[in-house]
Amino acid sequence: MTIQLHDTLKGRKVPFEPLREGEVTMYLCGPTVYNYAHIGNARPAVVFDLLARILRRRYKLTFARNITDVDDKIIAASQESGEPIEAITARYAKVYNDDMGALGVQPPDIEPYATQHIDVMIAMIEKLIDEGHAYVAEGHVLFDVGSHENYGELSKRDLREMIAGSRVEVAPYKKAAQDFVLWKPSDDEQPGWDSPWGRGRPGWHIECSAMAEKHLGDTIDIHAGGQDLVFPHHENECAQSSCAHGGAPFARYWLHNGFLSIDETKMSKSLGNVLLVHDLVESIPGEVIRLALLSAHYRQPLDWSAETIASARRMLDRLYGAVRGIEVSAEARAAAEVPESLVTALEDDINTPKALAEFFELARTLNKSNDPAEMEVLAAQMYAAGDLMGLLGSDPEAWFTGEVKGDVASDEIEALIARRNEARANKDWAAADGFRDQLGDMGITIEDGPDGTTWRRS
Ligand code: AMP
Ligand code: ZN
Repeated sequence: MTIQLHDTLKGRKVPFEPLREGEVTMYLCGPTVYNYAHIGNARPAVVFDLLARILRRRYKLTFARNITDVDDKIIAASQESGEPIEAITARYAKVYNDDMGALGVQPPDIEPYATQHIDVMIAMIEKLIDEGHAYVAEGHVLFDVGSHENYGELSKRDLREMIAGSRVEVAPYKKAAQDFVLWKPSDDEQPGWDSPWGRGRPGWHIECSAMAEKHLGDTIDIHAGGQDLVFPHHENECAQSSCAHGGAPFARYWLHNGFLSIDETKMSKSLGNVLLVHDLVESIPGEVIRLALLSAHYRQPLDWSAETIASARRMLDRLYGAVRGIEVSAEARAAAEVPESLVTALEDDINTPKALAEFFELARTLNKSNDPAEMEVLAAQMYAAGDLMGLLGSDPEAWFTGEVKGDVASDEIEALIARRNEARANKDWAAADGFRDQLGDMGITIEDGPDGTTWRRS
């Protein structure tokens, strides 16, 4: 079977065939680095990290994920705080990589920074002007959407309808409301580069087109991102790149992840429900967050709640519980194959719910086995599956004793249990119940038995 992927352009699942045999190029739109990534931003990073791992089993993959370090939101952040732009972008690029690393996201092969590719962007814009797809107006360069027959094809929008329906105030220098900025002028306070059109800076869309061209070529195999990027960002990238490359397709497959909501509500600053990965990893192990993000199929919406996290933790407890206490030699690990059924599920448009079901099936088989040799082989397969999905990376014993970063440490739990027992000995039932509730809030269930109090993570 070939890998199957859902292509937004075709609107259906199709067999994946790379342009060059044995090699794949993939581009994922990366972060604009002026603040912390939220849990929604982590979804494309984790999902397409998994796709990269799936592709690497079969192909030589070159995966690029950019850093947008010139943008009006960054300029605004710098003006507000007084901190230089370079300091802001360097700090948040590092935070982004650290936070995604905590979720098991492997670094991409190439991480291009927009500000280091201004010359490539200028060359591409010049080409678009020469070919009649862009025009200069009042220090700006605009892409002429009317010059591109297929404009709207990716997002399934009809340009004529868009024009008829547009109510936005159109800048006087634009030929049509939908024409978008490739280059704009910068004043003395704004970052800028010399160009044939004066000192200025690039528009957002041209950044990705230029970086993809430079590192991956005119036509790339896979272009990925969140579904909100389909329009206008990817539609515009697609138009620019294809027009700059004599009509060659920009991406052979377009992949988009669905949106993440919080407690059935859209995440937004005004509602105050924005969950930052940076904060979450302080109290929840990265693997739990990763599994929670992978628990739904990537194209479906995903609702994030206390139950999403609790359920991911229970799933990992089951997986770690199965391999706990089983010695697996380095030879057994090296020889282990990921079960075919799990690979097939992942190669079927990244079907993570099915792949996880197969993972639990493997854990069940292992739990039932009493034969030490067989148990070692099965446990080695569990670790191989974990390596592929970016899970089971911790020591199982540490997992259960709470020494995994982000978990409440076991000595903290023991200390609370000791204080509860002291309160019980003093017949201070209210205090004892208070400690039990406190443990419950931390996700710890306690049980009193003849040998004392035992606890487990609930
Ligand atoms: P942005 O910084 O807004 O460009 O977003 C970075 C990436 O995160 C893009 O691929 C977005 O599509 C994606 N993204 C933003 N918000 C969400 C969300 N709530 N759920 C899933 N993906 C999101
Ligand atoms: Zn992009």
